[in-house]
Amino acid sequence: ASRRAAGALARALEGVAVALDEAADELGRMDRIAGDGDHGIGMQRGSRAAAESARSAADAGAGARTALQRAGDAWADTGGGTSGAIWGEMLAALGAILGDEDEVTAAAVGDGVVAMKDAVMTFGKAQPGDKTMVDAMVPFADELTTRLGAGDPLRAAWASAAQAATAAAQATAEMTARVGRARAHGEKSVGTPDPGAVSFALVTRTVLENLKE
Ligand code: ADP
Ligand code: MG
Ligand code: MG
Repeated sequence: ASRRAAGALARALEGVAVALDEAADELGRMDRIAGDGDHGIGMQRGSRAAAESARSAADAGAGARTALQRAGDAWADTGGGTSGAIWGEMLAALGAILGDEDEVTAAAVGDGVVAMKDAVMTFGKAQPGDKTMVDAMVPFADELTTRLGAGDPLRAAWASAAQAATAAAQATAEMTARVGRARAHGEKSVGTPDPGAVSFALVTRTVLENLKE
C-alpha cells in the first residue's frame, strides 16, 4: 500500500512539474512586477527536481513519507528562493502525516493539507491578508476540511477546495504586500495577484486531475 501511495504521489508531482513548466513565463511576469522575477523559473526547476526525486524513491520501494521528504529537499535545493524553501517544508509536512506504512485515506489527506498550511505559516510567519500563498492556502485547507467533514468523497472535496484556492489567489490582486520581497514595492503590486498564491492554486487544480474518484 505504501509503495502505491509513493507512486501516486510521484505521478501527481510529475503532473505538477508539467503544469508549472507551462506556467513559468506567466509566473515570472507576475513576480517581476513586485518581486525579483524568478518565481516561474524557481517553481519550474523545483517541481521538476521534486518529481524526479519522488519517482526514484517510489521506484526504490520507499513509502510516502520518505518519497515526500526527498522530494521536498530536492525542491528546496533546486528551486531555491522563498518559495523553494516553503514547498520543501510543505512536502515534508504532508509526508510526516501520510507516513511510510499506512494506507492513505481521505482523512489523512485532509490532515496532511492542514499540516502543510501550518508548516507554511510557522516557517514564513505570514498571515492571511499579507498577500502571499497563505491567502490561497488557508481557504483551500478550510474548504477541504469542511467538505471532508461533511462526508464528501476526496475528489469532490478537493475540487471544491481547488476552486476556493483559485478564487482566493485571484483576489490577492487587490491586496498590498506586507511580507516578502514584494513588501518593498508597496502599492506597485496592486492589480497583480501574488505569484505564489497563483502557483499554489495551479498546483491544487493539477493534483485534482490525478485524484481517483
Ligand atoms: P523569492 O521571493 O525568494 O524570489 P519566489 O519568487 O520563488 O521567491 O516566491 C515568491 C512567493 O513566495 C510570493 O509570491 C509569496 O507567495 C511567497 N512568500 C514570500 N514570503 C512568504 C512568507 N513569509 N510566507 C509565505 N509565503 C511567502
Ligand atoms: Mg522571486
Ligand atoms: Mg528570488
